[in-house]
Amino acid sequence: MGSHSPEQAECLNVAIIGGGLCGLALAVALKQRNIGFKVYETRSSFTEVGAGINIGPNTLEAFRLIDGELGEAYLDMAARNPPDRQDVWFDVRLGAAIDSHRDGERVASLMAPPTGSMCVGRDALLQLLAERAGLIDGVGRQRAAFNKKLVGLENTVCGVTMSFEDGTFEQASVVIACDGIHSAVRRLMIDPDSLAATPGFSQAGGYRAMLPFQKLEMLLGPQMARTSQVFLGPSGYLIMYPVSETIMNVALWVWRRGTWPHREWVLPNQRSAMEQDLQGWGATVRSIMELAPDPPFFAGHYYHTQPESHWKGRVCLIGDAAHAMPPHAGSGAGQAMEDAYVMAEVLSSAAEFAPTEAHVAAALSAYEAVRRPRYERVVAASVKGMHDWSDLYDVPVTEERLTEWIELAKSRFEFIWKHDLAGDASRARASMQQKAVL
Ligand SMILES: Cc1cc2nc3c(=O)[nH]c(=O)nc-3n(C[C@H](O)[C@H](O)[C@H](O)COP(=O)(O)OP(=O)(O)OC[C@H]3O[C@@H](n4cnc5c(N)ncnc54)[C@H](O)[C@@H]3O)c2cc1C
Repeated sequence: MGSHSPEQAECLNVAIIGGGLCGLALAVALKQRNIGFKVYETRSSFTEVGAGINIGPNTLEAFRLIDGELGEAYLDMAARNPPDRQDVWFDVRLGAAIDSHRDGERVASLMAPPTGSMCVGRDALLQLLAERAGLIDGVGRQRAAFNKKLVGLENTVCGVTMSFEDGTFEQASVVIACDGIHSAVRRLMIDPDSLAATPGFSQAGGYRAMLPFQKLEMLLGPQMARTSQVFLGPSGYLIMYPVSETIMNVALWVWRRGTWPHREWVLPNQRSAMEQDLQGWGATVRSIMELAPDPPFFAGHYYHTQPESHWKGRVCLIGDAAHAMPPHAGSGAGQAMEDAYVMAEVLSSAAEFAPTEAHVAAALSAYEAVRRPRYERVVAASVKGMHDWSDLYDVPVTEERLTEWIELAKSRFEFIWKHDLAGDASRARASMQQKAVL
């Protein structure tokens, strides 16, 4: 962390656009480093409807580096696998019988020691981050501005002027865009008509449901019903993991080749489409999905094309605004947490200089040079993940293919989970300081 005094650091006034997971993680990290910030959120509070966020060991490490107590707080809240299976990330099972294996049979366990699968509800995680950022009580509340939809940005030599939909203007020395996959900042920063300005369809989507353990137990027995599972199947996969003491998050992901024809990304009441998609699957997955007879379908999107740079002047994109990815590696929020930590570290380094425009530019370019190769590799793995989980049944499944699949699956997440994030931050800080003194 930076060695500057709080007085010096206040010279750097960071505007965080978007109070989702990434924006609030950055707020926590900046607070810990005594950097001045304000969060601008378009909604009226830090709340979000949505399922759980499942994280891997790299994300837990990012939490710990952001704020020493955050990692432990996450672990305390997290829904995990039963005590005797806590180092399991997911059990892998067959979603349809093959020659020598029955429907539903476990063929592998993907391990993520020592924690295994860890999941908390999105809303609970947002509340935790808002508390740790000091945005809930006392004077800290002034650092959160709600009903503030950013609509314009102007870079000047001494700062950035932000304009909001309500007709107000505010100034900051640096703007960090955490405004998600529909990022307004991204469209303001690059040509809004370019391919890179808009996310594209991933050609896959998921039927989603939250199912009580009690009902799953009657189908699957107590062990399977409470442990995170992936079922491989014909042209898709089913994933389920505990999100609380009583509830499993379940999603059946399937291919939907071609373009996405609807304006909305979530279609309600998709029973008949799901029945079509379940053709060829075995009784186990069919009976799980019968517990959610008329689920919504969510169409996955991500940025297919990237601009040359994720920063310009005093503005930088992080989190989903920079690299929204399909959820097939469970890593979108994790990458956002890694971004928040490294960004806070380079800004902390810049704050040591009573920063000018050149210092801010040095910080943002050092950030991108270190972070971008990492998150682009994770995006590529997430896109490929849909193939990895769902292509096994494309041709007849032989014992040899299954063994090969299992071996590959065991190592696929290693590079995501075992990463020297503190080393990234040191490199970014060193590079920032080198650029700043030139
Ligand atoms: C189905 C699904 C399952 C997923 N599961 C996982 C998982 O298990 N693990 C994992 O690591 N990741 C997962 N992800 C990815 C994860 O949800 C995202 O990567 C993460 O939410 C990104 O955080 P963010 O803060 O960048 O964006 P968001 O969470 O989208 O937050 C953006 C915020 O910006 C605000 N905002 C938007 N526009 C403006 C504006 N103009 N002005 C002001 N504020 C604005 C929004 O209201 C919102 O609060 C999943 C994603 C999906 C779709």
